[in-house]
Amino acid sequence: MAEEKEKKRLKIKATGQMQKIMADYFYELNDAARDRSKPIAWCTSVGPAELLRAMGFLVHFPENHGAMLGATRMATDMIPEANAIGYTPTICSYLTADIGAYLKGVTPLSKAYKGIDSLPKPDVLVFNTNQCRDVQDWFAWYGDEFNVPVIGIYTHRGVKDVGEALVTSVAQQIKDLIPTLEEVSGNKFDMEELKRVLALSRECSDLWQKVLFTAGTIPSPLTFFDGTIHMGPAVVLRGTQPAIDYYKLLLAELEERIENHVAAVDGEKYRIYWEGMPVWGRLSAHSKLFAGLDANVLASTYCNSWIFSDFDENDPFHSMARAYTQLFIVRSDDAKEAYIKRMLDYFKVDGIVYHDAMTCPNNSNCRYGMAQRLEKETGIPSLIINGDLNDLRMLSDEQTKTNVEAFIEQLEERKG
Ligand code: SF4
Repeated sequence: MAEEKEKKRLKIKATGQMQKIMADYFYELNDAARDRSKPIAWCTSVGPAELLRAMGFLVHFPENHGAMLGATRMATDMIPEANAIGYTPTICSYLTADIGAYLKGVTPLSKAYKGIDSLPKPDVLVFNTNQCRDVQDWFAWYGDEFNVPVIGIYTHRGVKDVGEALVTSVAQQIKDLIPTLEEVSGNKFDMEELKRVLALSRECSDLWQKVLFTAGTIPSPLTFFDGTIHMGPAVVLRGTQPAIDYYKLLLAELEERIENHVAAVDGEKYRIYWEGMPVWGRLSAHSKLFAGLDANVLASTYCNSWIFSDFDENDPFHSMARAYTQLFIVRSDDAKEAYIKRMLDYFKVDGIVYHDAMTCPNNSNCRYGMAQRLEKETGIPSLIINGDLNDLRMLSDEQTKTNVEAFIEQLEERKG
């Protein structure tokens, strides 16, 4: 059996700066909610954040809050609160943890940021079903609770080719949000402002992609676990200058590591691709587990989900529609498999770990034979881990450890 060692994992120096801009983001939202100085929109993580910012909203992302509940290991205790009002334990555990925390009147923000004791109350909630239906139900609940409008974009899912008819429909749906947003915010839509915000968002996306793609180097200067932490600005601050400045800083640090052949996991021997959601409450444990076996989990579809290369300020609605529909999670298995194959190649991957997250079938891609098909086509071995993004009752740490150790041993034998 492959043996786990205590391993040094390199810390990213730019982390302090990221924490600062994230703190600024949460305090700005908190202040605006208190003073009613700016309108606040809640938005799904791959919803039309650029339009909301361009119309003067500050934007809160409930999934980000859900992930914080997971990472702080508060989620598991919150979920039963939502179960008790009819949201079952098998639906999205971001949803159940987030609504449960609201019902209990707690938030991880109050531990992280002095003076913040609740979420910023929304003036409007805006979703896109490109990722799943759960977001619509989740926002509908808060819409009733706060008595504010809930509006959204209905995107087809399981899409093979992102054709013109689909893009045109989504673009029109984004435009159709404007009258409600004007009414709620009291601000008139300004095309020039949308173009400005979209250009910033595109720049943020390009930099984020460069950051993630540094992991194509051997040894990799970055891990997937770093990515899950440092993706914060790409999710909640895209379309703003601080996110761009931050990724320039982070990229420079990673490029310096590459120049000096510095590995994020000392003695990197096995390069692993993570497919599916992270297990937020086990980021550190999983990072240690793999590093201790000389394995670097260095790339993932998950972190890549905030790369929007189709954004084009010269064609805002159409390009936003295309970017938000091209996403991996929206696509058919053939399109997903073609994408993963490109990633395996680019990142020079030795093995794939699929996380089958109990409460997120939408982002668990190993349930319909994908792992077996890809293994047959590429020869790259894979492992399926059963677990969950937030509900720690759905996973067995012992089982995960045993399976990962056996998997690394298999990779070792394969390398000869
Ligand atoms: S994609 Fe999965 S984790 Fe994300 S909101 Fe939907 S069900 Fe929840």
